[in-house]
This record gives sequence, structure tokens and C-alpha cells, in this order.
Amino acid sequence: MKVLVIGGGAREHALCRSLSQDPAVTELHCAPGNAGIAQVATVHPVDQLDGAQVTALATALGAQLVVVGPEAPLVAGVADAVRAAGVAVFGPSAEAARLEGSKAFAKDVMAAAGVPTARSYVCTTAAEAAKALDAFGAPYVVKDDGLAAGKGVVVTSDRDEALAHAAACGQVVIEEYLDGPEVSLFAITDGSTVLPLQPAQDFKRALDGDQGPNTGGMGAYSPLPWAPEGLVEEVLATVLQPTVDELRRRGTPFSGLLYAGLALTSRGTRVIEFNARFGDPETQVVLARLRTPLAGVLHASATGTLDQLEPLRWDEGAAVTVVIASKGYPAAPRTGDPIEGLAEAEAADGTAYVLHAGTKAAEDGRVLSAGGRVLSVTATGAGLAEARERAYRSVERISLAGGQHRGDIALKAAQ
Ligand code: AMP
Repeated sequence: MKVLVIGGGAREHALCRSLSQDPAVTELHCAPGNAGIAQVATVHPVDQLDGAQVTALATALGAQLVVVGPEAPLVAGVADAVRAAGVAVFGPSAEAARLEGSKAFAKDVMAAAGVPTARSYVCTTAAEAAKALDAFGAPYVVKDDGLAAGKGVVVTSDRDEALAHAAACGQVVIEEYLDGPEVSLFAITDGSTVLPLQPAQDFKRALDGDQGPNTGGMGAYSPLPWAPEGLVEEVLATVLQPTVDELRRRGTPFSGLLYAGLALTSRGTRVIEFNARFGDPETQVVLARLRTPLAGVLHASATGTLDQLEPLRWDEGAAVTVVIASKGYPAAPRTGDPIEGLAEAEAADGTAYVLHAGTKAAEDGRVLSAGGRVLSVTATGAGLAEARERAYRSVERISLAGGQHRGDIALKAAQ
């Protein structure tokens, strides 16, 4: 199978790494890719938001499967363009991707499907926002209605800050605060059959102890030893399957990856948000544990044949990923710094490896930082403690001027 992956972050590097290890994959391409992806796939300089360019590349390569990684191309209709050209594509239509692209749309689908989520109001004026904030009380949760790369949400006890965020965004969703630990559960679906993956937890705040600003994600781990038994089955029955069924009922079936961000509250499991693609950095740890070759699973989603797939096989062990971000991330990331120690950070036996996010190869062969999140250092082990130890050992071998990472990824769960 010839496969083309769209995107250029650590999530796409993780996808490419797994696909490159799948014996069914004869050729692997990625657009635009990054310096790390270039080591396992042929990279192509294509505008990932341009459906016509992506389709032309897929056709020229004779790709039999296109995998769209990030949300922006999905919302821009890149999967629709590729599908219209007769190429199998993993990823939802623009219509179905509104589940991520519009928080208000997601709330509407959840209400229709009876999916448990935070009570909320959609607000466009300052007066509406003020009324909604006072209806719920502090802590306040204000979400930009549109795509904001994980940074459009403000959770604060400061009413003025909440109002200011609402004013800055235009249309917002204001909702009740959900207490309790968060879980990310991914499912692969073809619009009818839903195949949940293993749960993971990510770390959204920039600093240790969940301090500092929200980021795209600073690390993740899987499995979750503290999660209640039967969680995956419960979420499949109460969240994932009803949502997929509701979108099919509306005539806009969702195929690809459905990501449920959940809060396990004192009053039960609630959906915080849906995403329409693999989450970053949770993908890095979930795929590290998946034993079933990836291409066949993604192809079955793309071709509506998931019901014929054997049950997924998983590594019993654990995986941890630690993100190394550039100086100034998330507010004002500095780019162009050289990265050293990448080879030294990889374990010869494959138990620790470096996935690239914002990197690029310089003319002289050095690897330079090229974005906010730069690397996702991933390790596996018999348990979380071992995986953590290996991941941090690798992190210590890498040098990036001004680089920052959290020191407490998976710490509590490993104890
Ligand atoms: P989202 O982009 O919707 O995932 O929100 C980003 C982060 O904001 C989540 O991972 C939560 O930590 C936090 N958050 C979002 N909605 C709520 C809520 N209703 N209650 C508490 N925290 C929330």
C-alpha cells in the first residue's frame, strides 16, 4: 500500500513511524513533513490546507490511502477533495469535522444524541456573556467557538478576564466548570462501526504542577492505572457510538478519528470537547502501544470495512512522551535554535525515540527548531515508572538553547 500522510508535527511523525513499520506499506510519503519525518518518509513541500494541491500529489504518487493528521486541513475540506478524486482517505469531511471546528455545533450534536457534557450557552454579545457567567458562577469556562489550536479556552476565577476573553473571541461557548481528572479517548470509526483505542492523559499547562498557560500539550502517558474499570466500554456506549450514529442520521457521517476529551466528574463522565483527528501528544503514546499494523486499520476506516477487522492488539506495557518546547512557548516561541544530541537520545533497542514536531533541516545538515513544540521524546517500558525514566533520560541528552519541558509528566500515575 502506498500511503500519503498530511501534516508535519509530532503526531504525524508518530503516524509515519508506525506506518513505516507496517509490512503492508510499500511507499510512505508525507506533506509537508519535518526533519524527523524525512528519515522515515519521502517529504513533499505542499500547502496542507489546499485540497487541490494535496489531491494532485496523492494522484501523482498513486497513493492508495491518504491520512490527514491535523484539524485545519479537515475543516478546510481537504479530505473531501481527496475522496472526490477516488482516493481512500482517513479523516472526516469538512461537514463532520465541524464537531471540532465549532464548539456550538458539537454541543448541538451532543444534545441530540443524549451525550453527557457541561451545560452551556452560546454567546455573541458582552451582555449575553455576562449573563451566562453569572448563571454558572466561578470558576468560569469561556471557549472560542472556532478552531484555536487548543488555545482558545480560558478557565479562570477572574470574571473580568473571562469577559475580556469573550469579547476578544466574538462568538463563544460559556459552560459550567467540570471538576475531576481528564481522559483522552480516541476511537477509529468508518461512520458506523466504532473501535475505541486505549485511553491516555495529556498535560495541557506549560509548567509543572499544572501551572502556567494552556498549551497544545506538554506530555502524555498511557495506560491510566487509576481509571475506573469499564471506562472504555462506558464511553463507547454513552458517548462515541451515539455521536457517530447521530452524525450518520444527519446525513454527514463521521469517518476517521473521533477524539473524546472527557472529565471524570463527581457526577459522572462528561465530554469536555470532541476533536476530529488524532490528538497530539496522546497519539505518540497510544501508537507506541498499538501492536496491530496501523495501515490496515486506517484503510478499513477509509473504506467502511471496520466491522471486518480483527480486534486490536495492544502492548501490555506503558508509554510516556515528554514535549520539549522552544523558549517563549506558548506566547512567543523563538525558532531557529540548533538541536543537539538527537542520535544520543535514541535507545538502540527502540524503547526510547525522538519524534519531531517543529523542526527543520538546515543546509549544513544541522536540525533547527522551527515551532513552539519542537520534539516529543517518547519511551516505552514494562510500567509507567520505567517508561518515564527512559523518556527523561533521553530528554536530558538533548540540548536546545532556551528549551523547556515539564518534569512531572506521568509522575503521579507512576507512583
Ligand atoms: P478544550 O480545548 O475544550 O479541550 O479545553 C482545553 C482545556 O480547558 C481542557 O483540557 C480542560 O483542562 C479545560 N476545560 C475545558 N472545558 C472545561 C470545563 N467545562 N470545565 C473545566 N475545565 C475545562
